[in-house]
Amino acid sequence: FAAIPLNLLPEDGFADYFVTGHWSRSAYKECAERFGDARLHECVFTNKDGYYEVDMSKMQVTKGATYAYLCLNETVNGVELFELPDTGDVPLIADLSSNVLTRPIDVRKFGALVFGAQKNIAPAGLTVTIVRKDLLGRARKYTPSVLDWTVLDKYESMFNTPNSFAWYMAGLAFDWIEANGGTKGMEERNIKKSSLIYDYIDESGFYRTQVAPKDRSRVNVVFNLLNEDLNAEFLAQAKERHLIGLKGHKVLGGMRASLYNAMELKGVEELHKFMREFAEAHS
Ligand SMILES: *Cc1c(COP(=O)(O)O)cnc(C)c1O
Repeated sequence: FAAIPLNLLPEDGFADYFVTGHWSRSAYKECAERFGDARLHECVFTNKDGYYEVDMSKMQVTKGATYAYLCLNETVNGVELFELPDTGDVPLIADLSSNVLTRPIDVRKFGALVFGAQKNIAPAGLTVTIVRKDLLGRARKYTPSVLDWTVLDKYESMFNTPNSFAWYMAGLAFDWIEANGGTKGMEERNIKKSSLIYDYIDESGFYRTQVAPKDRSRVNVVFNLLNEDLNAEFLAQAKERHLIGLKGHKVLGGMRASLYNAMELKGVEELHKFMREFAEAHS
């Protein structure tokens, strides 16, 4: 989040931040509180059905903006963007940490893509940045070398000793993704996995997701039990079945099923079965 303004934003420039949840808000704050003029665009509203919905019409660049920023999948809120705003000549910078390689992305539409490896690629400790060549060479003078994209490019990502184990694991994950149909294959798997849970939630009358159908993340299914008093019991029983990590992010509460690439359909079928049985036992 710091590297983006440090590499792109001149002291007297400003950037547009399209906020759709926790992580885009964090990126906005990092820029606004430490580095410069970040313009906040709130792009999610509660619609008439009570769902969070992304309003693409709010994703308008301000004339003169240096870049526009968004998060392609809001991991905490379960909101994914399946459409991109038209930012004209203003480079679009995106955080893909939680949905990178879960579906095809047209890289040419972005000025820079940034993502942590720990959700879909490799163990924690590796961050990947993909930058359009013409956006290099703009870092502020005092940008630490280790965050300076131009330096990292010049040293072929080995300015300092890289996290070689995570790199190695990333290579294996890329091979595995290729062998399983590439990003297209991943997309098919992730549609299948997430629809199984969303379709059930919608018909259950026991669970509810807060996100409008068009914006529902295929990797982070965020939901609540209508009777929140059952939360602790739900988590305890899930754990007995080896279904772990279902507790929602601390800033939001509720439940979250993260269906990253490594999660097999079989695991999601187990979750579906458990959710159904739990609902039947408590209705
Ligand atoms: C996980 C995540 C982050 C933060 O990654 P850390 O390495 O934990 O700081 C940022 N953005 C998105 C979209 C994420 O999912």
